[in-house]
Amino acid sequence: MPVRSENAPSVELTTRVQFLKGCGAARAERLAALGIHTVRDLLFYFPRDYRDLTKLSSIEEFEEGQLASVSGTIEEAEISSRAAGRSVLGVLVRVGGDHLRAVWFNQPFLRDVYHRGQTVLVSGKPKRRSTRWEMVHPNVRVLDTDEPPAGQLLPVYPLTEGLTERHVRQLVERALESCADALEEVFPPDMLAAKSLASISEAVRHIHFPPDHEALARARRRLVYQELLVLQLALALKRHEMHESRRAFALEPSAKIDSRIRRLLPFALTPGQNRAIEEIIADMGRDKPMHRLLQGDVGSGKTIVAVYAMLLAVARGAQVVLMAPTEVLARQHLETLDRLLAGSHTRLGLVAGGQTAKNRAETLASIASGEIQIVVGTQAVISGEIAFARLGLVIIDEQHKFGVHQRAALKRLAVSPHYLVMTATPIPRTISMTLFGDLDVTVLTDHPPGRQNVHTYLPTDDERPRWWEFVRKKIAEGRQAYVIAPVVEENEERASLSAMHESLANGELEAFRIGVVHGRMSPAEKQDAMEAFRRGDSQVLLATSVVEVGIDVPNATLMTIEGAERFGLAQLHQLRGRVSRGKFVGYCTLFTAARTTEADARLQAFVSSTDGFYLAEVDFALRGPGDLLGTKQHGLPPLRIADLVRDVEVLEEARADALELVRQDPELAKPEHARLRRMALARYGSVLDLGHVG
Ligand code: ADP
Ligand code: MG
Repeated sequence: MPVRSENAPSVELTTRVQFLKGCGAARAERLAALGIHTVRDLLFYFPRDYRDLTKLSSIEEFEEGQLASVSGTIEEAEISSRAAGRSVLGVLVRVGGDHLRAVWFNQPFLRDVYHRGQTVLVSGKPKRRSTRWEMVHPNVRVLDTDEPPAGQLLPVYPLTEGLTERHVRQLVERALESCADALEEVFPPDMLAAKSLASISEAVRHIHFPPDHEALARARRRLVYQELLVLQLALALKRHEMHESRRAFALEPSAKIDSRIRRLLPFALTPGQNRAIEEIIADMGRDKPMHRLLQGDVGSGKTIVAVYAMLLAVARGAQVVLMAPTEVLARQHLETLDRLLAGSHTRLGLVAGGQTAKNRAETLASIASGEIQIVVGTQAVISGEIAFARLGLVIIDEQHKFGVHQRAALKRLAVSPHYLVMTATPIPRTISMTLFGDLDVTVLTDHPPGRQNVHTYLPTDDERPRWWEFVRKKIAEGRQAYVIAPVVEENEERASLSAMHESLANGELEAFRIGVVHGRMSPAEKQDAMEAFRRGDSQVLLATSVVEVGIDVPNATLMTIEGAERFGLAQLHQLRGRVSRGKFVGYCTLFTAARTTEADARLQAFVSSTDGFYLAEVDFALRGPGDLLGTKQHGLPPLRIADLVRDVEVLEEARADALELVRQDPELAKPEHARLRRMALARYGSVLDLGHVG
C-alpha cells in the first residue's frame, strides 16, 4: 500500500466519510445508501470478491477457444459499420509486447466506455485471426488504476448506482491510511495469541488489499471468527439469562404420575420418545425455566412427547399452552388431546380466530381462573394479552415458522414458564447453532413402529396417465390422495390449483369426491375441508402447501406434487411425510413444469433419500441458508462476512469458545471482555432482548 498522507490530520474512525479527501457530498450520499456513514463503516465494508490478477496469462499462452484473462492498455477503440444497422466495435489492447483485438457487434454504445490509455482486464475465449488474437464479446473490466496490476488481488465491492470500484477502492485506501491503526482490538491479547488470529488492523488492511492469498485467508478467518463469536456470545448470554436468572415452577416427575400418564396413552412409546421425555422432564423438574428444542422428522411422534410434558405439568397444578402455527393444526391438536383425555378431568380450551366474542370472553375468564388447564391456540395465545392463573409450560409446535424474534418477544412473567419448542423441519446443524443457539436440543431419532416407507417417483410427463391410473386403483381400494399445487391461481399456469381442479374433476379423477384447501380460504372453510378429508367424505384433497404442516390422516397414502421444482426440499419432505403415517405403503410422485440443473439435483436427492436431515443438508448446500436464515422471518441481522455453508468449522469453534467464555464470566463483566460484550449487545441486544445484561 502506498503511504501517502493526503487526508487532513483530523480523520478519525468516527469522521463522516464525506470529509475523506476525494469523497464529497454526492458520493457520501451514495455511500450512505449502502449503510456507510463513517470512516469506520467504510473499513468494515468488505469486498464481496477479488479479482485475481496473479492468474493472468500472457498472449503466448493463449490457446484457441480456451478461456483466458489478460491485462493491458487500450491503444485504440473504433467503430466500423459494414452495412445499415450493423456496427462493429474493435478495441485494440496492448498486452506486453503483443496485441489483442476485442470485438463487439451491434453494441455501438460501448464506444463511450472504452478509451485510449485505460488499463483493462479482458477475459474471454481467444481466436486466432491471421496476424493476431481476437476475442468476441469478451468480459472487460476497466481497472482505472495507476498502479501496475501484476501480482495483486484486487478487491471487488458490492456497489450502488453512481459509485465505481475505483472510487470505493480509493476511499478505502485513504481510510486505511488514517485509521487502520486506530481500530480497537476486541480480543484480549492472550486470546489473539492462543488462537493465532490476525490483529484487527492487519485483518482489515488485508481484507481490502491482500498482498497474497495466504494473507487474505488469515484476514478473513479473523473477521469471520469475530463475527461468529459475537453472535454466539449474544446467544450464550441469552441462554444464561433465560436459564439462570429466571425462576420457574419446578414440575417434578414421579413414578405415580408417570404410570397415570402412560395409562392414557394409546400406544407404547418408542425408545427415542422415552429418551426425549426423560430429558424434558429432567428440565421441568428444576426451578429454572427449560428452553428446549425438540427436533424430530415428520411423523416421528413429537405430539405424544409433548402430551406427556403437558400432563406432567397439569398433574403438578400448572397450566399449559400449546401453540400451533395455523388454526387447522391447533384444532387438530385440540381433537387429539380431547380423545386422549376423554377419561380424565383435564379441561381444554381453544383460543383462535373464528370464535364469537362471548365464547372467547368465557374462555379467557376460565383461563384466568385456572379452570382451563390446557390452552391450545395460534400465536395469540402467547402474545401476552391472555392472563393465566399459573402458567407452567409453553409448547410451540413447528417453531421454524416463528424464529428468534418472536421467541425473544414472549412476555416475561414473574415466574417464567418452561418452554418446549418443536420442529419437524430438519435443521442443518449450522442453522440450529445460530437460529436456535440459545436452546438445548433434543433429537427424536426413531419412528413409531410399523411405519411404512414412501415410494417416491420423478416421472416424465408422458407417464402421467399411468400414474393417475394407479391413483384411481388405490382410491378404489379405499385409500385417499393428496394433490399439491404450488400456487392457487396463475395465468396460463398448468400447475396452478384452479387449473388442476378443472382438469382433474373433469378428467383423471372425475369419479371421485374432491375437496379443496388453500391459503385464500377462511380458517373455517379450511377447517371444514380438512375435516371432510379426514372423515373420508372427500377422497382427494387438492391443496397448496397449507397441508404441509402436521396434518395427520393415516388413510391417505397417495401424494402427487405438481410444479415440484418450486418447492424447497424441506417442504417436499414435509409433504411426503403426509403419506407415511399409517399401516399402508405411501406413494409420492413429483411432476415438474420446468427444470434447472439445481432443481434436478434437488429432486433426484429427494427421490433417493427419505432422511430429512440429509435432505436439509443437501438443500442447504445447493441453495444456501436463504429461506431458513431470511432475516425478515427470523429477525437476526444478516452476517457480513461469515458464510454458514463455508465456515462451519469456524462456527463450531466460535460456539464452543462463546459457551466457555460465558461459563467463566457469565455476564462478560471482566474488563478484558468489556469490548466483546459491548459488540454483542450493540448488534444483537435488541433482537434478543438482552437489554438488561450489564
Ligand atoms: P410429528 O412428529 O410429525 O408431529 P405425530 O406426533 O403427529 O408426528 O405422530 C405421527 C403419527 O404416529 C400419529 O398418528 C401418532 O399417533 C403416531 N404415533 C406416535 N408415536 C407412536 C408410537 N410410539 N407408536 C405408535 N404410533 C405412534
Ligand atoms: Mg407434529
